Amino acid sequence: IAKARGKNRLVLYADGMAQAAQEKIVLLEDLAGATSAGQFEVHYQPTIDLSSGTTTGYEALLRWHHPTRGLVLPAEFIPLAEEGGHIVEIGRWVLVEAARQAAAWSAQAGRPIGMAVNLSPRQLADDDVVATVRAALDGSGLPARQLTLEVTEGVLMHDVDQVVGQLLALRALGVRIAIDDFGTGYSSLSYLRRLPADIVKIDRSFVQDLGSGGRSTTLVASIIELARSLNLDVVAEGVETPEQQAVLGRLACSHVQGYLFGRPQPADAQTPPGLGPVAAVPIPRGPLPACT
Ligand code: C2E
Ligand code: MG
Ligand code: MG
Ligand code: MG
Repeated sequence: IAKARGKNRLVLYADGMAQAAQEKIVLLEDLAGATSAGQFEVHYQPTIDLSSGTTTGYEALLRWHHPTRGLVLPAEFIPLAEEGGHIVEIGRWVLVEAARQAAAWSAQAGRPIGMAVNLSPRQLADDDVVATVRAALDGSGLPARQLTLEVTEGVLMHDVDQVVGQLLALRALGVRIAIDDFGTGYSSLSYLRRLPADIVKIDRSFVQDLGSGGRSTTLVASIIELARSLNLDVVAEGVETPEQQAVLGRLACSHVQGYLFGRPQPADAQTPPGLGPVAAVPIPRGPLPACT
């Protein structure tokens, strides 16, 4: 009986695998037509200057409204779009959309509003990426210095010299480069040395543990110090509690992002920057705690 059951389980497992593969193929097909069908929407999450509590900009986060599956999150479709190559076309659409929105919000607020757009490895490896970014800036009138492109360590999986060349060419346009999810990679310190960058985004996993004892506070303090010594700006990702905010304030972290200050939302659901109440209570900066 046991043997028979084992065999059945194996068959079920194989069935499950086939089904997953089938689903992937279908999703890949759906992705191919999603941009022209208008199924994508950009949500925006504010970035806050911690010392003043004001919104300095937003990060563009992509959402897919699938006709039958409903809302699909990036974790599910970005890897597929990357694999299938659709990410280049999708990413172009996101850049145009986000640049246009940042220009509109800047005009509305009467001050420069920043916009950060995520670029995946395949997008950065694309020969046309510089022209694509330039076209998004030109088309929207958004000054280049208001645009940040976020990349992760994953971009180093491609030809490093080529990637560094692309980043330098993008920076020459005047845009800023952020290293996203900093601290989670295998070689964070070495890629900090190799990638031309302006901003470091401290990964949510470190921020989540702040204030709960443990070593996270020391780690985050070290990343902030390191960034300062390299003249990089710092954004802490995934701030959810006032306790985490307080620790980051004591560590003199310059910018924060997270559900505590605002969730990613469609543009029309967002309080226009400068018109609504400030997002955070300013926290006075204090001395750095001893790193023991
Ligand atoms: P990311 O760039 O590191 O973005 C931060 C993610 O954390 C977002 O997830 C955001 O919704 C979520 N988040 C923000 N604050 C909090 C918080 O306080 N708590 C928690 N638990 N989560 C928070 P999302 O929108 O699902 O995006 C996931 C990833 O997908 C992004 O990570 C980015 O790598 C990628 N992605 C999103 N949009 C695009 C895009 O347009 N192009 C490319 N290439 N990648 C994208
Ligand atoms: Mg990001
Ligand atoms: Mg991140
Ligand atoms: Mg991430």
